[in-house]
This record gives sequence, C-alpha cells and structure tokens, in this order.
Amino acid sequence: MISTTEIDPAGIAGDALAAADPQLADLVAREEQLQSRTLRLIPSENYVSAAVLRASGTVLQNKYSEGYPGRRYYEGQQVIDQIERLARSRAERLFGVDHANVQPYSGSPANLAVYLAFAEPGDAVLGMSLPMGGHLTHGWKVSATGRWFTGVQYDVRRDTGRIDLDQVRDLAREHRPRILICGGTAIPRTIDFAGFAAIAQEVGAVLVADIGHIAGLVVGGAHPSPVGHAPVITTTTHKTLRGPRGAMILTDNDHAKAVDRAVFPGLQGGPHNHTTAAIAVALHEAAQPPFADYARAVVANAQALAAELITRGYQLVSGGTDNHLILIDLTTKGVPGKIAAQGLDRAGLVTNYNTVPYDPRPPFDPSGLRIGTPALTSRGIGVDQMPIIAGWLDRGIAAAGRGNEEELATIRAEVFELLGAYPAPGVGESSVGSAS
Ligand SMILES: *Cc1c(COP(=O)(O)O)cnc(C)c1O
Repeated sequence: MISTTEIDPAGIAGDALAAADPQLADLVAREEQLQSRTLRLIPSENYVSAAVLRASGTVLQNKYSEGYPGRRYYEGQQVIDQIERLARSRAERLFGVDHANVQPYSGSPANLAVYLAFAEPGDAVLGMSLPMGGHLTHGWKVSATGRWFTGVQYDVRRDTGRIDLDQVRDLAREHRPRILICGGTAIPRTIDFAGFAAIAQEVGAVLVADIGHIAGLVVGGAHPSPVGHAPVITTTTHKTLRGPRGAMILTDNDHAKAVDRAVFPGLQGGPHNHTTAAIAVALHEAAQPPFADYARAVVANAQALAAELITRGYQLVSGGTDNHLILIDLTTKGVPGKIAAQGLDRAGLVTNYNTVPYDPRPPFDPSGLRIGTPALTSRGIGVDQMPIIAGWLDRGIAAAGRGNEEELATIRAEVFELLGAYPAPGVGESSVGSAS
C-alpha cells in the first residue's frame, strides 16, 4: 500500500484525518489521485474550488437550525442566520429571482419539495421520460414521484432526437397536469423555456424548470435563463454551477411561501449549514466575470469535441450539442455502451453508459455513452485539446470492443501525461506524478 503522505503530502490526508483514521485517509487520498489522474467526462460532475471545499469542511457541521433565518426552533443562530441570508441573497441576485430556498439536501429532495408544494397525491405531473433524457424525479415509475403522482411522460422525436412541444402540448391538454417539468439529465440541446411556459399557462400547470445540469451555463450566459418563464426553478448546486453537493429552489414571490413550507417542515429537518456556506462561496465565484468565460468555454469544448467525434464516424443524439453534454449512440460502432464505458474507465477516461432515445437495448446495458465537458474545462483544458480527447475516446471504444487491454493501458498513460499540465482545482496537485 502506498502511504498517504506519499500520495498527498499537502492534502486532506496529511492532517488530523490521517492521524485519527489512516485507513479512511488513505481511501480519500486514493480518490484524490483518481480525480487528478483521470479525465472526468461525466457531464454532471465537476471540481469545486479549494474555497468551496474548505467552506464545506467547517464547524458549521455542528449546528442545528431548523426553520429559516429569524424564525428558528433552536437558539444560537447569530452567525448561521447571516450565512443563510448571504447564500439566499447571492442566489437571488445571480439568477435574478425574487426568492431562493437554499436548504434542499440535493436535487431529488428539491424536486420532491416542489411536488409537495403544488400537487396532491394522484395528481398528474408531466415530465420528460427518463430513457429520453429526463430525471427519475420527473414522474418516472420507479421513483416516489411516479408512484405517488400520476407521471405522464413526454419523449423526443425519433427523427430529430429533440423535444417535440406539440407532443408536450397534446399530453398537457389530455392529462391537465398540476406540474409541468422541463429540464433533464441527457438533453444536449437548448431548452425552450418560453415554449414550455405557454403550454403550462394554457392548461393551468405550474411550470418547473429543473436546471440541475445547466445552472452554471445559465448564470454564465451560455444557455437562456428560465427566469420570467418558469415561476419555480430547481437546481442542484454541484454540477456546472461548481458548488457543493446540494440544491436550491428559486421562485417568484407568489410561489415562495409554498416552497419554503414544503422544504421545512414539509420534507426536511435541519439544514446542512456547511453546505449552505459552500453554496454561498460558489455563488460568489459564479458572480465573477471569469465564470462567464468558463461557461462559454464549457460549450465551446463540447461543440469542438462533438465535431471531432462526428469526423470519426460517431452518431450523436440530435446530431450535436448546444450545451455541455454529448450523447453518443454507439450502435453503428457495434460496441455496447457498458462495454465502452468500462473499457474507457480502464483507459483513464471516466464516462457513463446511458440509454439513447428509443434504445432497443435494456437500460442496464444500453447503446449510448454520455459525456460532457464541465470538469475538464475547470482544469483549463481548451478546444485545442479536443482532437486529442476525441482520438483517445475513439481508440478506447475500439479497444474496449476488442478487449485490447494493452491499448487501454497505453491511452491511460497518455491521459495521465497530459493531465499533469492541467491540475484539477481543489485536488491535491502534488498527487500528480508523485506516486506510483
Ligand atoms: C442531478 C439532477 C437531479 C438530482 O440531483 P441529486 O442531487 O442527484 O439528487 C435532478 N434533476 C436534474 C435535472 C438533475 O440533473
């Protein structure tokens, strides 16, 4: 076993954790090494800054504060109230909304809070189906949202791979949903918030824009904002927004009270104050001019990578991307998504297998591979490197299909070498090249 100090002399493992629990510290150091030495292409992942990481590992862990600032059920909130107010006001200013609730534990509970606020059990909720690019919590049948509510699901068009608002409108007229959700986890194209808003208005549904994947692009001006179209916006804070694992619900004044009551006391107990603090830091970072450059670079990288993959004969769902995400249909390459993803992982290219629309293969062994550029862009990797990365993906997928472990190991070494020049934010930089 490699000693933790060897891997990570300056990082988390070198301190109290290593002294108290060397076994766990060693695992953290190994994860740090993985994050440093492999190329993270999972579009929902990112690297938080050292400042965000620091804020989330503080004594704020120790404080209970059920309620909201000024209306708590525990004393001793002199500082916590200020922290939550700061996070809230930064979110309101950055997104341009009336009200922000920063307490949801993560994206899924945030969506559940919205259901609790605006629907009754059994009501119809209209969202994108999971295998077409939606999220479990958009009414998919195995989720609580699909079991306790009547999940009605829209698709993408077979010929374009894009959402068909005519189908959404037809389903909305037929089922009269209380809630209409737009957004998802595998949508490579711009979401037409105005189009969804018109449908919601026609049928009297609350439009919820779930921008978990694209929140960073929205605040950076690289994707249109749902503000002014969707009165309720849910988002994770840990994807393109580059904050800690958490979530927020942003609303107009009319929907604020119902959301606040649904989050607490409807669904949760004490908020995670260390996360609230880290969200505040991430929002502060996202408000600085360089963050807009980052958001634009994420999209430029994804579009350059998509073009390189097309050149190499890859078929992309919807033919390309407008955002941070690329969904590859590997059918024409004859390599199943899971074989490809697992082989690429051995090559130091971390992706996830994914269903493609109308996938003939089962969800646990689908035809697609989902990749994205938020994390690599946070390392400062730019469009000039996209041909190299596309080449690795192409060689890696072919090698995975043939079971060529030697080629996968060769790629892994090439990846490691390039990444040495692009240290990952917040990750112990010493871990690159310092250990075997
Ligand atoms: C990630 C995501 C979620 C769920 O967030 P968790 O934090 O994983 O619970 C919900 N909706 C969308 C659109 C997402 O991208």
